[in-house]
Amino acid sequence: MRFTDLASGRYTELEFPVSSVTKAIPFFSAETGRWVTAVTNQASGKTCTDLCLVNPQISDGAQTAETAAPLTPEAHHPCDASLADARKFADFIEQKYGVRVLIGNEVLDLPERSDEEIQTTEDYWKKFLDMSPELRDDPFYASAQVNSILEQLAWVEQKMSKYPEGFFRSFRTPEGKGGLRISIFQRLYTFARGEAGGIANTFGAWYDMRLTEGRAFDHEMFHLVEFRTNWTAQYEMAFPEEGDNAWIDYCPNGFRFNEKWNTAEAGEELNQYLLFNSRENAYFVSRYSMTEGVEDRAEIMNELFKVPEAQWLTAPAENNLKVYEQCPHLMKKLTRMAETVRKTFGSVYWEEIFAAGYDPRKAEQAVQALIREPGCILDSYGL
Ligand SMILES: [Zn+2]
Repeated sequence: MRFTDLASGRYTELEFPVSSVTKAIPFFSAETGRWVTAVTNQASGKTCTDLCLVNPQISDGAQTAETAAPLTPEAHHPCDASLADARKFADFIEQKYGVRVLIGNEVLDLPERSDEEIQTTEDYWKKFLDMSPELRDDPFYASAQVNSILEQLAWVEQKMSKYPEGFFRSFRTPEGKGGLRISIFQRLYTFARGEAGGIANTFGAWYDMRLTEGRAFDHEMFHLVEFRTNWTAQYEMAFPEEGDNAWIDYCPNGFRFNEKWNTAEAGEELNQYLLFNSRENAYFVSRYSMTEGVEDRAEIMNELFKVPEAQWLTAPAENNLKVYEQCPHLMKKLTRMAETVRKTFGSVYWEEIFAAGYDPRKAEQAVQALIREPGCILDSYGL
């Protein structure tokens, strides 16, 4: 067995006076200043454990191992100077909400995942202009990259501004570590479901929201709320997954969640349960809701904050909470979601948002005007 002194890289190999060692667990004895190793072996069919006191420094023949370069912190990937305006806007969002925002090549700071492919905005536009160098001097293409990030950030800011004060900060640890981290990508491709407008997951103390479409914010945010809910409910799955009777009970009789939601195989007859077709019989707000329970709930939340399409031309706009109130099955789901969110957060954020008089049509028009404005949209934020 080899013992290595990690500080010097010196190691020694000791032979134990037992054969058939199956396990060795070292621990440090502070009283003696020595490492003690519990060595488990199977001598003559019996399992027994011996404690060995080892000090490799006094052993003859210690050698020095080849060591790798000392560990350095993960390389930081800055974004290009041409994205300075977008970075300023990202700083503004960070300060206002107590979150982290990554743009351009900064998203490469995130841990890599093996189940997907990504493309940064910088990488996309560099390749695009390398292929069409004659477009470099065209003012539209020269500012296309920064504008595309600004547009996504404008959606993010519009979506975030309606949430209750302090909501996003509450995702940090009590010591103020981690929290919500929003990253803007050009492209996210998952091997399981193809192109994605957003992906939500967690890493260490971070709640990661990766977006190619700022509009997907409310959907992804509910995934993160649900992650936090599950963990703070003492590891109890607060929202049971697909197949669990507790959520399938909120779906039509005989319904099963199905990954093939967008193929003919999933069945045309399921369209009768869509909000688009009827309020009385509405169980789902989209076909994507039919993939699994977590997506069903995230879609309900995304739709709740959207302008109902049929209402674009009428005034005053009927918000989707009013629409849901006429949909008994959707309302049952929303009530169940509210119960769980209240347990973790002490309140229900969408109830607070609507009580404060949220008008999705005004919010959507405001962001549309902002991103259509020629020149720098940051003026509207007093930056
Ligand atoms: Zn989702």
